[in-house]
Amino acid sequence: MTLVNDAAPAVRSTGRKFRAFTAKHLEELTARAGLTPDERLATRAVATVLPFRTNAYVIEELIDWDAAPDDPIYRLVFPQPDMLPADDVAHLSDLLRRGAPKAEIDAAAHAIRVRLNPHPAGQMELNIPSFGDGKIPGLQHKYDETVLYFPKQGQTCHAYCTYCFRWAQFIGEPDLKMAGDDALQLRDYVKAHPEVTSVLFTGGDAMIMGEPVLRRYIEPLLELEQLESIRIGTKALAYWPQKFVTDPDADDMLRLFERVVEAGKNLAFQAHFSHPRELEPLVVTEAVRRIRDTGAVIRTQAPLIRTINDDAKTWETMWRAQTRMGMVPYYMFVERDTGPQDYFAVPLARAVDIFRDAYKNVAGVSRTVRGPSMSATPGKVCVDGVVEVAGQKVFALHFIQCRDAELVNRPFFAQYDPEAVWLDDLKPAFADRFPFER
Ligand SMILES: *Cc1c(COP(=O)(O)O)cnc(C)c1O
Repeated sequence: MTLVNDAAPAVRSTGRKFRAFTAKHLEELTARAGLTPDERLATRAVATVLPFRTNAYVIEELIDWDAAPDDPIYRLVFPQPDMLPADDVAHLSDLLRRGAPKAEIDAAAHAIRVRLNPHPAGQMELNIPSFGDGKIPGLQHKYDETVLYFPKQGQTCHAYCTYCFRWAQFIGEPDLKMAGDDALQLRDYVKAHPEVTSVLFTGGDAMIMGEPVLRRYIEPLLELEQLESIRIGTKALAYWPQKFVTDPDADDMLRLFERVVEAGKNLAFQAHFSHPRELEPLVVTEAVRRIRDTGAVIRTQAPLIRTINDDAKTWETMWRAQTRMGMVPYYMFVERDTGPQDYFAVPLARAVDIFRDAYKNVAGVSRTVRGPSMSATPGKVCVDGVVEVAGQKVFALHFIQCRDAELVNRPFFAQYDPEAVWLDDLKPAFADRFPFER
């Protein structure tokens, strides 16, 4: 058992340089997990389709190797042999076994990827606004008040989650990428849209960037009076907390955060934590303390994932620990309709039970969390629960966010379906169409 709560490992890992592990290390790592040669080959086969990347901190401090391959953190970062249809895995395994040319393997992997809905919620087509000379690469005007920006230098993470809904950005297919690198164009766009009050830097992971690069994006925004908040989406607190503590630019980074706060903006981290174990190392506590000392706020979120965090106790433990550390529980998401969704999906009916069973046990200060929420094409849909109305069993739902702001926070209903895992699976109740379909 890895004693992640022990002071020793946390201290040992701090001060070390970041080191990534990729597909070429899979053979060695899956052997450590005790997989058979066939399972190891199947894992490598899956990794030709879905991206794999992890690092020494995740490997040494977070994964419990005695419990692998069932360990939740192992499952969080390592591709699983059964994540893709068996025929596909068999075919790719064959190619690898007989040492097929790279081009042949790439072509087979590509054919499988396009069947995995690489861009859910119409990400490539919608919301990329025209401005000035044309489209702004890497910018999505998501909701009236919120702009998302994908900096080109933030297109990777310290480690990848197996369930990531942005997985398509991490593989070498240029037409699946969304990225921009023009900080002034971002500023000008926001300035020309006074309704925008929040800019969210995301990726990949915005905290993969070094301080000088992140500063170039953030600094121009500080002069915009209209902006209330600058947000940074990151999994670094879970996968590489050293970013805020011992990395060479950690102190500069914290000063940058202070400047945002001094400029009168709310600086908020949308911190991704999938499992309570990610909160245990002491270096995480230290990273959280240092970030909060700058005046920034840390809000936490994660999707509900089968075999990784699909029970109420896990969420309750996570929300309690986050609250204790001064973070604000924010969202429980439903796994999106992309990649190996069939593998990780939790039915909506079960998701509402898990959410409620965790929520009912935490104090009011942790009940800032909302969910289970689907980030779907029309907006963020929260499943409030299952109720009986006029003799019919239905899901009660509401929009937390919606492209059509008029629909926000208005209850609506869908027919109960115990198998439904996503908005597309639902049928309207007491109406022939959903409000967002009008
Ligand atoms: C929508 C979204 C956010 C931001 O949520 P708000 O509702 O604008 O606060 C952050 N992360 C992800 C993954 C989202 O889908």
